Amino acid sequence: MPVPDGLGAPLHEPLFNRLALIGMGLIGSSLARVCRRKWLAREIIAADCSAQVRAEVAGLGLADRVAESPTAAVEGADLVILCVPVGAMGRVAQEIAPYLLPGAILSDVGSVKSAILKAVAPHLPATVDFVPAHPVAGTEQSGPAAGFATLFLNRWSILTPPAGTNPKAVARLASFWQVAGANVEVMDAAHHDLVLAITSHVPHLIAYNIVGTAADLEQVTQLEVIKFSAGGFRDFTRIAASDPVMWRDIFLNNKEAVLETLGRFNEDLSALQRMIRNGDGGGLYDLFTRTRAIRRGIIDQGQETAAPDFGRRAGET
Ligand code: NAP
Repeated sequence: MPVPDGLGAPLHEPLFNRLALIGMGLIGSSLARVCRRKWLAREIIAADCSAQVRAEVAGLGLADRVAESPTAAVEGADLVILCVPVGAMGRVAQEIAPYLLPGAILSDVGSVKSAILKAVAPHLPATVDFVPAHPVAGTEQSGPAAGFATLFLNRWSILTPPAGTNPKAVARLASFWQVAGANVEVMDAAHHDLVLAITSHVPHLIAYNIVGTAADLEQVTQLEVIKFSAGGFRDFTRIAASDPVMWRDIFLNNKEAVLETLGRFNEDLSALQRMIRNGDGGGLYDLFTRTRAIRRGIIDQGQETAAPDFGRRAGET
């Protein structure tokens, strides 16, 4: 008996005829897997700029066909999803635009939305519906071997269609993500970027910074940092191990929202510094009580495990 994975039975009739996935890393390969598993598209065509990734995708049997180029992949596809780093979206859109099927939906999974809209939309013919999306799901791993079909299960996928987008195309893409296991929310691209700046981008920046600071500290040896990492540092290192290309592109493309959030963060950090200097135990206690309640809220909404070890399996470091 197969172990139930929570994704439910495959569709009786696929939502799309031919799906083209451009970029077969963690997100693209997870989409390929869930589309296969749920029969979301009759046919899956994959493309990636890396010959090694293309060979891996073929070896893992993730697509019906691995195309040599993005332009070859999109031919005849009624859904095309760009799963490349944020900084590459505009270039790929420009390359594939003349080859897109009239009536096709073009989407993406980029972690930043305003910059992608600006980079992609100008290249597209009026016959194509562009519905940007961001699945708020991931791990610190990259590449096709790291993907899995349940990555999007019970996570959110945020759609940011610009004003005037064909509502039928938005509804079709929303159904696509729901069948893939995700909850769907629709919002404006600028609002998405601000929300993600505080929930994802600045937390990653803080993790990159603290791990960098620890690596440069002279009074504490590298050996001590690793040896005593269970005291909090270890959990920052997981986030700080995230893909450097992906995160470089996120900070370069969500500059305004990240800088605005960082400004606020710095003010709050200064207030904390003052509380410590002034021995304001009450202030510290109040803040830590409020933050504890936020974590409880995240667990209650099923976005995190309540296991004391963040759900790590016994014996795993
Ligand atoms: P990834 O594992 O690094 O995969 C990206 C793939 O795209 C790589 O195989 C890369 O090849 C390929 N690629 C780069 N430029 C290309 C181009 N011009 N044409 C064709 N292929 C190209 O990255 P990922 O984590 O899947 O992220 C992909 C997108 O999803 C990003 O926009 C990211 O913001 C978004 N996203 C990521 C997460 C996450 O947690 N990882 C979550 C939500 C959304 P090379 O390696 O050879 O460059």
